[in-house]
Amino acid sequence: MKRFLTAFMALITLAWAWQLFSATGAMAPAPANAWVVREHALTLTGLWSFALMSLAMVLATRPAWLERPFGGMDRIFSVHKWAGILAIGFAALHWLVEMSDDVIKTLWGREGRLPKDHGSGVLEAMRDVAEELGEFAIYALLAMLVLTLWKRFPFGIWRYLHKVMPFLYLALAFHAAFLAPLDYWTQPVGLMLAVLIAAGSFASVLALAGRIGQGRRVGGVVESVCEPGAGVTEVTCRLDAGWRGHRPGQFAFATFDRFEGAHPFTIASADRGDRRITFEIKALGDYTRGLAHRVQAGQSVQVEGPYGRFNLPTGPGARDQVWIAGGIGVTPFLAWLEALQTTPDQAPEADLYYCVRDRDSDPFVARLEALCAPLPSLRLQVISSARNERLSAAALGNRTRAGAVTEVWFCGPQGLADSLRKGLGKMAAARFRFHQEAFEMR
Ligand SMILES: Cc1cc2nc3c(=O)[nH]c(=O)nc-3n(C[C@H](O)[C@H](O)[C@H](O)COP(=O)(O)OP(=O)(O)OC[C@H]3O[C@@H](n4cnc5c(N)ncnc54)[C@H](O)[C@@H]3O)c2cc1C
Repeated sequence: MKRFLTAFMALITLAWAWQLFSATGAMAPAPANAWVVREHALTLTGLWSFALMSLAMVLATRPAWLERPFGGMDRIFSVHKWAGILAIGFAALHWLVEMSDDVIKTLWGREGRLPKDHGSGVLEAMRDVAEELGEFAIYALLAMLVLTLWKRFPFGIWRYLHKVMPFLYLALAFHAAFLAPLDYWTQPVGLMLAVLIAAGSFASVLALAGRIGQGRRVGGVVESVCEPGAGVTEVTCRLDAGWRGHRPGQFAFATFDRFEGAHPFTIASADRGDRRITFEIKALGDYTRGLAHRVQAGQSVQVEGPYGRFNLPTGPGARDQVWIAGGIGVTPFLAWLEALQTTPDQAPEADLYYCVRDRDSDPFVARLEALCAPLPSLRLQVISSARNERLSAAALGNRTRAGAVTEVWFCGPQGLADSLRKGLGKMAAARFRFHQEAFEMR
């Protein structure tokens, strides 16, 4: 993610610098002074912010065609989130630079101030509106950023507030289109800006029209609801004919209640070709707590998906593997194991570590044992905190063969992922390839 965002920012900066240093750039000949620096800082921070905001907007449309280059929809969400956060940061910087004129006037006077682009009366009027819109959008974005980073703010309300983002984006697109220097439009930076405006505006209209994910949305009926263990609800749905099937390890957005909206859950069953899918849902928050009493067999459900690339690793390349499931992060592994029941010869050599609070009361231990029994190449180890057992990076390091690269497939709490990644990185990062399905979107 860091590499992608850095490359994206570098491209934007390059286009901006090209304009700056090209012979036709109006600002190139101006001698350097505080006003010139302010002007350049204003355009650069504005460009960075708008480009990142456009990227965030496009990624918000859940573009399944980008799953392969990004490595899955969870990664796309992660880039969306960080692009949005950075965009707001640069927007705040842009606003501060804009406000710096009084300071410059006091310290250096008006000398050296760059002449403004002048257009027709209509253009000037539009620019005034664009400035007002930009200022309003920045205040709204900053408020949104605070609510996003304040994890205690209820997700359900945050999600509704987040729906205002396409409106804010369109206001920013208007701001960028009318306030970009006029000579941009004959330069590569202008072409880039036009592409960003078009792509981001299209994405905003899709979002406002409720068309995101529409092609992957199907209806269905809840067939059964049960509680296999404390705090876990199992929901099996039978989907309508439009369902395209899924690969083991993928997830879908399920809407059991229109007002509540869609929640992402891994499909914890293999594709049996009968359009039946099962979710194992842990009570992790406001909505999922008490879900078993709210969802009933026979009610309708809407499912959007499948998404994700946490795919069962099979084939000749899939040799030395470690699968790690933490708590409800076991769901993709349940789907993998179920899929392997019909093709046991494809099961790779793997150690499956299932980390739980208490193995005696856990709802999935018995099921995992039964699923692993016919698959001798899979070695299941249950790590129970109640018995003072811990999974450490050192334990994983000891099991690897010298010279071999171990593929680590992880789904579970972020804290456990961070500590394992850190530990493995210290030992020898090159010997491990870490694949993680992120359960957190905000
Ligand atoms: C790819 C993926 C697969 C998942 N698979 C499973 C699974 O198999 N089983 C399981 O129990 N949980 C799974 N989760 C987590 C599950 O989506 C959240 O626990 C659930 O949505 C929490 O809802 P809540 O209202 O009860 O919690 P809240 O307390 O309201 O929210 C807690 C956190 O859950 C996330 N969340 C809540 N609502 C949504 C939403 N509508 N869209 C996106 N994120 C949301 C946010 O990060 C939020 O901060 C998965 C999440 C992702 C991203």
